[in-house]
Amino acid sequence: MRDLLKYARECEALLDALKIKYSKNIRYTVNRRAQSRLGLCKKQGGRYTVEISSKLLDERTSEQTLIETILHEQLHTCYGCMKHTGRWKLLAQRVNDAFGFSVARTADEDSIPEDMLPKPKYIVRCRGCGLELPRQKLSPLVKHPERYRCAKCGGKLTVT
Ligand SMILES: [Zn+2]
Ligand SMILES: [Zn+2]
Repeated sequence: MRDLLKYARECEALLDALKIKYSKNIRYTVNRRAQSRLGLCKKQGGRYTVEISSKLLDERTSEQTLIETILHEQLHTCYGCMKHTGRWKLLAQRVNDAFGFSVARTADEDSIPEDMLPKPKYIVRCRGCGLELPRQKLSPLVKHPERYRCAKCGGKLTVT
């Protein structure tokens, strides 16, 4: 699990380097709901809450997407930047030009793409009940499925 605050500070340093004035009053929270957006920025009074999906804190996902999403939301805290047009768009362009990122408007509009997490390399399947065990690594179970039996029905296992 990646440390959201650590990344948030790194992103703030990038904005500092470009002298972009974001809010100093941001609370960072992790959104653990399965189907949600990559990020979200809410304004309440003079305070901002930046919400980042827990999926982006998973080491298996792209670190760059996490950084781009945090920057996207931090830019919303700049003066006159709650929308994806005008000032926000110009600042996002500056960040992209300076660091080669692609901070885009979609981060908090689209839902998380389904292929965000890598697909399992192997699937161990029970010939009896159809139970599927997704596996990322070549393990004894994947190498020698004939040595094992399905935990649910005792059926024979195959690997695809
Ligand atoms: Zn946005
Ligand atoms: Zn089974």
